[in-house]
Amino acid sequence: MVNRDRLAQTFKFLAEIDSISKEERAISGEIKKILESMGAKTRIDGAGDKIGGNTGNLIVKFKGNTPAPPLLLNAHMDTVEPGKGVTAILSDGVFTSDGTTILGADDKSAIAILLETLKIIQENDLTHGPLELVFTVCEEIGLLGAKHLDFDLITAKFGYSLDATDTEGIVTRAPSANHLEFKVHGKDAHAGAAPEKGINAISLASQAIAGLELGRIDHETTCNIGIIEGGTATNIVPNRVTVKGEVRSHDEEKLNRITDAMVSSFQEVVDNYKGMTTDHALPGLEVNIRKDFSRTRIPEDHPVVTLARSAAENLGRKMVTKTSGGGADANIFFEKGIMTGVLGTGMRDMHTVRESVGLDDMVRATELLLEIIRLHARGSEG
Ligand SMILES: [Zn+2]
Repeated sequence: MVNRDRLAQTFKFLAEIDSISKEERAISGEIKKILESMGAKTRIDGAGDKIGGNTGNLIVKFKGNTPAPPLLLNAHMDTVEPGKGVTAILSDGVFTSDGTTILGADDKSAIAILLETLKIIQENDLTHGPLELVFTVCEEIGLLGAKHLDFDLITAKFGYSLDATDTEGIVTRAPSANHLEFKVHGKDAHAGAAPEKGINAISLASQAIAGLELGRIDHETTCNIGIIEGGTATNIVPNRVTVKGEVRSHDEEKLNRITDAMVSSFQEVVDNYKGMTTDHALPGLEVNIRKDFSRTRIPEDHPVVTLARSAAENLGRKMVTKTSGGGADANIFFEKGIMTGVLGTGMRDMHTVRESVGLDDMVRATELLLEIIRLHARGSEG
């Protein structure tokens, strides 16, 4: 039933439209045009203004032709860089770029699959419930589109995001993440003439970092320092350094504990130094902790899981629930009470110039989605 050539053409068309984060207007316009020509109602929310992008999230609704609870379907429109001037090359059934850019299968394979799915539904006049498609902006720069999505426009309580690799898996567990920023304030001085008048902020930050447990803390917790910025010249004792890092965990308690341990490590080093000086203002510490996203945990018996399982079974395939180490739009939907499982499209080596996606995988993902929509319309789930 899937039109393989059309799916390939749609993917190539989408992949070759530049759409790095904050510059999604062109691709959004094309998706909107296609879906409106199929009778959908479309809206663009105000997220673009809020995050400094050139357009907002695109929300598309298809009325059902049978009563069923609305089903959410999600993909993101933006790509990472280098993502401008992509040429999508199909060779032996696999799409790649020409090697100078990413391909953008993340997440345009998902958009192509969604468009093909809807075309098949219309061509064959298939029974379906109300469908709410949410095409987000700025997923790649901190889920900003989803975070600023106008949720008043969404009525679905569950659905699927297509933003993973495995076409026989559904991500139901993803971690919480905290973003941490430490600013250590020291005191500048001439490094050769009067170093004893200075307080070396880089040295203090180094001591704090050396006291941290980094990397994989346990099977569900990770911790990283990713950025250090500070200092102006080798002959100046640096008066300030900024250190940025993150903690992720599937367990909220562990997330908080590791976060606290990081803060304590910096605080102790600064306090110890203060204890040795008469100047009680310096060194100083500023800590900024931001919750990046909250964990997702969809129960095994939730309709979003059982529906995907039944659909896969009907196609003679497997469907395993999976744990992801990363955050996705689905984390934000989950926070808003919308249970969103993440399905695979076959995309591989995302965020590299070696990124690829197999056409067979995209066909399989389309077949799965069609079967999910068919079962959903039959009321096979709550
Ligand atoms: Zn993605």
